[in-house]
Amino acid sequence: MHDVLIIGAGPAGLSAALWCGELGLDTLVLEQNEEVGGQLLSVHNPIENYLGVRAVNGRELRDLFVEQTKDCDFDLWTNVEIASVDLKAKRVILRSGEELQSIAVIIATGLRRRKLGIPGEDEFVGRGMIESATRDRDQFAGNDVCVIGGGDAAAENALLLAEVCPTVTLVHRGKRLRARREFTEGLHTNHCITVFPESRVHRIIGNEHLEAVEIERAGAIKPFQMAVQGVIVRIGFEPNTELFRDQLEIDEQGYAIITSQQETSVKNVFAVGDVANPLSPTISSAAGTGATAARVIAARLGR
Ligand SMILES: Cc1cc2nc3c(=O)[nH]c(=O)nc-3n(C[C@H](O)[C@H](O)[C@H](O)COP(=O)(O)OP(=O)(O)OC[C@H]3O[C@@H](n4cnc5c(N)ncnc54)[C@H](O)[C@@H]3O)c2cc1C
Repeated sequence: MHDVLIIGAGPAGLSAALWCGELGLDTLVLEQNEEVGGQLLSVHNPIENYLGVRAVNGRELRDLFVEQTKDCDFDLWTNVEIASVDLKAKRVILRSGEELQSIAVIIATGLRRRKLGIPGEDEFVGRGMIESATRDRDQFAGNDVCVIGGGDAAAENALLLAEVCPTVTLVHRGKRLRARREFTEGLHTNHCITVFPESRVHRIIGNEHLEAVEIERAGAIKPFQMAVQGVIVRIGFEPNTELFRDQLEIDEQGYAIITSQQETSVKNVFAVGDVANPLSPTISSAAGTGATAARVIAARLGR
């Protein structure tokens, strides 16, 4: 029996754990991955907006979080697969069969990149799918590439790739790009970049390596194949709430709905960080909301 079970060890979960430890709450953090850090592990650009620290990338900031929390008073289990959660009963059952019980639960499961769900998307990971233009650009220098998505992230990645790739084709579903003007202007003036609006990629094709995408364009009679050696998908994020969706109130996009104290619709179950759809999905908000939940729980338990 623990005071608090925290699900997820990104910035929000780690901040909540640090505060829970400091406030004398018996706390166990459950992380599905081998490593803690969440989205920080896929931030390849410098982080300059987290007060007090500058980091060359997310991993460096993550390492500082780990260093700071390693002597804190909480337990952390990584590589954990949760089979089911009963939020009302505050009971978590692991795939291993182990049953965990607590007085309060903090959901800190964050977001994941939305996928297209098309053939080839998973198959060519590491063989042509680009995880990050910042990180992988040099590897794709001289290659023709396709960027899928119409927002800021897609536009920014297209511009980065256009610095080293002869052709960059940006494919998006809408009539107009959703990216901010500084990016869209850059796209339209860059002679390496072609934008296909009202278009969809249906298939990613190849043998040993990625070789082409199949595209359907509005007005075209049938889909056509375009030879590319790299594809990057930037079509947004979605919250990791599948485990809890039928047990608490969520909004139409699947984010947990919370009170000003970070509490969900289930008493003593809190949601912190990006999974609770903060106005600013940032490391600062994640750290702050994690602290709030811990303090509310401690106050309720009289610590
Ligand atoms: C490319 C990129 C650049 C960014 N740049 C910045 C920046 O410059 N400044 C800034 O402030 N923010 C930045 N962000 C946003 C920032 O990384 C997030 O706001 C922050 O990581 C949110 O933290 P979180 O703990 O809420 O969620 P996450 O970081 O998503 O962590 C959630 C954790 O929960 C775990 N988890 C999920 N489901 C389960 C489960 N069922 N069981 C156990 N564990 C689970 C995940 O594995 C993960 O470790 C960036 C994000 C990206 C992707």
